[in-house]
Amino acid sequence: MRKKLLAFDLDGTLTPPYKEVLVQHKKFFENFIKSFDWKIAIITWSTLEKVEQQLLDYISSDLFAKIYVSTCNGWVCYIFDYSLQERRPLWEYKFDEKDLNFLKSSLYEARDQVLKEKIKPIWEDFVVKWWYMVSFSVIWKDAPDHLKENRDPEWRKRKKLIEYLKEKFSQYEFYIWWRTAIDILPNWVNKWFVLEKLVDFEKINKKEVLFFGDWFVRWGNDWPVKEYWFDVVEVSWLEQTFNFIKQILWNLRS
Ligand SMILES: [Mg+2]
Repeated sequence: MRKKLLAFDLDGTLTPPYKEVLVQHKKFFENFIKSFDWKIAIITWSTLEKVEQQLLDYISSDLFAKIYVSTCNGWVCYIFDYSLQERRPLWEYKFDEKDLNFLKSSLYEARDQVLKEKIKPIWEDFVVKWWYMVSFSVIWKDAPDHLKENRDPEWRKRKKLIEYLKEKFSQYEFYIWWRTAIDILPNWVNKWFVLEKLVDFEKINKKEVLFFGDWFVRWGNDWPVKEYWFDVVEVSWLEQTFNFIKQILWNLRS
């Protein structure tokens, strides 16, 4: 079925993690957006500011109306408003302060109960409110690389923490990313939820949506999409995404 919405994870799927789109993909991606009447969605754990720096700053503003940007794994979704000349939230949710405080104290408790180890005071600030999400790190984010590398390479610590926390909080879902962190969100907020909302908003069929991502393992933030969606492209690096896009264009033109 011809696709009407192409949705992409950002880091590792369209751009190198936390870095701007590769030079050889800049014009290509812009031309790709222009090519047909499809809409594009960027769905990421990151912030709008990061998405702009990494990708949107390299795309002509004439195309902004075609691009949805959903950040913090779906908590927020922006569309471009030409009258305001800026992106405004299509939806935006936040943790309730009371829930947030309880969650924070439970995270500290989990650290003491489950990890049973004290970390140097310099790394002790475990819980950060990461924009709208809550992230928990088994080491402070500015710790030297070699310490991060060895802190939880097989996710044992974080899986133990998640097990403990899941008992307490069935209303939350936990995502493991990169070397040290866990992101926490209400269990109804995830990338799959974003696709459901956009399908409604665009008044299209679910089968007209294709999602590209690179982090589909259990506890990965693309995982819910694989679990519940129809058409998913799993990539392990950006080149795979762009080769797939080329294939789509080729098929549509020939
Ligand atoms: Mg990714």
